[in-house]
Amino acid sequence: MNHDNDIKGRFAPSPSGRMHLGNLFTALMSWLSVKSRGGKWLLRIEDLDPQRSRREFSRLIEDDLHWLGIDWDEGGLADTGPTPPYSQSQRSHRYADAMQKLLDSGKTFPCYCTRAEIMATQAPHQSDGRIVYPGTCRNLQSPPSRRPSTRVLVTDELIDYTDLIAGPQHFNLAEECGDFILQRADGAWAYQLAVVVDDAEMGVTEVMRGNDLLLSAAQQIWLFRQLGLTPPQYAHLPLLCNSSGQRLSKRDASLSAERLRRHLPPQAITGILAAMAGIIPSPEPAMPADLVSSFSFDCLRRLPKQIIVDDDDL
Ligand code: GLU
Repeated sequence: MNHDNDIKGRFAPSPSGRMHLGNLFTALMSWLSVKSRGGKWLLRIEDLDPQRSRREFSRLIEDDLHWLGIDWDEGGLADTGPTPPYSQSQRSHRYADAMQKLLDSGKTFPCYCTRAEIMATQAPHQSDGRIVYPGTCRNLQSPPSRRPSTRVLVTDELIDYTDLIAGPQHFNLAEECGDFILQRADGAWAYQLAVVVDDAEMGVTEVMRGNDLLLSAAQQIWLFRQLGLTPPQYAHLPLLCNSSGQRLSKRDASLSAERLRRHLPPQAITGILAAMAGIIPSPEPAMPADLVSSFSFDCLRRLPKQIIVDDDDL
């Protein structure tokens, strides 16, 4: 095994519900990836949204990971490690510092648009759910009196990166999303800013997560550069979908950790996930630690973009 103590991966769940099979898949693959190279793995709690985040779900995330046989070297609710705190709700001052840097360099502007106003500007053919900010408040002469959100002025340039699983990626942020939010009008920090600040400060070198975040990676790489920081490597996994082709969500009770734990032992789940990833030929029961030497990016690269999971198969 190739040991590299500088490799650091992370799992960054939002505690807005019980994890599902897709979250377990991401956690397991990310853990195996860094452990196969002797790296470290950290758990960061992404509880930025005060309305949706619950401490109880953070506890359950930790419990489900332990049950599966996955442990973290840093982070979690105990805040173990060199760069605490590891819950985003406790890290506001870090985000404020980064925001100040962007503000000082003239890269931000206040935006007074409501979501409904932005939606009304979207082209009708845009049915993929993507929203492109139309630039309304870039040069606003007479701002309304309500509290603004803060957006970053994106540049019209191609962001290229090579994803360790999904391959070469090219995104022009001006076309794909436009100026994006750094801080909401209610003061909540936006995911894109928080994740960049945290991945940088925590020394994360490898970000593995679902491929619904490929565009986010481009936004994050761009923000890293604006802040003079070095981005990590990205590895975006196929999304697990239910039998109707929709990606698993925390509302899909049938594949939630709660139900899985009632019906199957952890070794069975690990075996199923590892076989799904193609790193073992068939779903033989295994512990995560047994699979460290089987992990391979080549297997992950051969997977389709979406994997359908029929809960009858489990
Ligand atoms: N907190 C995000 C989620 O639970 C993950 C973000 C990331 O891995 O960058 O979907």
